Amino acid sequence: MTINGSHLNHTEIMELLQGADDPGLFTSARETRERIFGSDVYLRGIVEFSNHCRRRCTYCGLRAENNRPQRYRLTPQEIVGAASQAPVLGLGTVVLQSGEDTHYDKQTIGAIIRDIKERLGLAVTLSLGERTRDELAFWRDCGADRYLLKFETSNPVLHQDVRPGGTLCTRLGCLQTLQELGYEAGSGIIVGLPGQTVQDLACDLRLLRELDLDMLSAGPFLPHPDTPLGGSEPGSIALTLRFMALMRLIAPLGNIPASSALEVALPEGRGMGLEAGANVIMPTITPGRVRAGYTIYPGKNAANDDVRELVISVKKTIATAGLTPSTDHGPSPRTFQYQ
Ligand code: SAM
Ligand code: SF4
Repeated sequence: MTINGSHLNHTEIMELLQGADDPGLFTSARETRERIFGSDVYLRGIVEFSNHCRRRCTYCGLRAENNRPQRYRLTPQEIVGAASQAPVLGLGTVVLQSGEDTHYDKQTIGAIIRDIKERLGLAVTLSLGERTRDELAFWRDCGADRYLLKFETSNPVLHQDVRPGGTLCTRLGCLQTLQELGYEAGSGIIVGLPGQTVQDLACDLRLLRELDLDMLSAGPFLPHPDTPLGGSEPGSIALTLRFMALMRLIAPLGNIPASSALEVALPEGRGMGLEAGANVIMPTITPGRVRAGYTIYPGKNAANDDVRELVISVKKTIATAGLTPSTDHGPSPRTFQYQ
């Protein structure tokens, strides 16, 4: 019998996270995905357009205090040029992601969104960190469809520890603004942050359920040597996969990616993510010239990978899982059949 995620209490979530019903949990997650999405897996091309960041997240290689990476910024023309590969490759959405880089002001990002919407007809997801309500409202008016902002951990003390200068409360406030502005809003966490407990993860899942999101994301912590957490153990893949399966059960309509962090942790990681109920994959379409500089964790991007080959490989992963790569924009099901 499929597990009903809306009724799971804290203790039951903890038990499932600890492996109490592993085969049953994953079967339920896949059945739930199939009920909502059939065999479709949505593809999103991700353009990582700047690796400058004003923040100091202790887990991330792009943190302002790391002077190792060669910093880059793509011009608006280069960003739209990179996005223009998406329709050719059968990707219905472009995700524009960067460090928290205010060099790109409201008008610049707005013009990029308009250009992509008008010329390429893609769905646009933004992942630019915490920005002002005024900026977020303007970008929504320019046509941005979705916004990803992971709260990373719902433990307020750990949150402040790993995101110095940031608070859980501000992050959640920003998410609420996104929902008020009519974005499809996405959030999620990192599994295996040093100091994080299974209790914390159960609280994360309950918060994700409460937030009523359109997109949910969880990837394993991957230590970056040039960060304060560089000497820590990586997050457990088994735990990440259980967390993902539980996300599917608590939010059946959510778009859930098999993250690139999973693939970096294990070559077959993305396929395992699909087995855990994910229905989205986001291959990078960042230009090769700068791609290797987007080092949030080691092994994230390789400079010499051909974008076309990357997308072919993702489509093979999807087919191997018995699923179908979809060219659709892949909106939240709540925006169409389930209203
Ligand atoms: N700067 C924006 C932000 O933080 O929301 C967007 C880009 S940021 C690089 C995207 C995501 O990378 C973060 O939400 C975080 O979960 C993830 N990330 C960063 N460093 C990581 C690490 N060492 N291991 C796993 N995930 C990491
Ligand atoms: Fe910047 Fe995002 Fe990395 Fe934090 S996770 S340092 S905000 S790029």
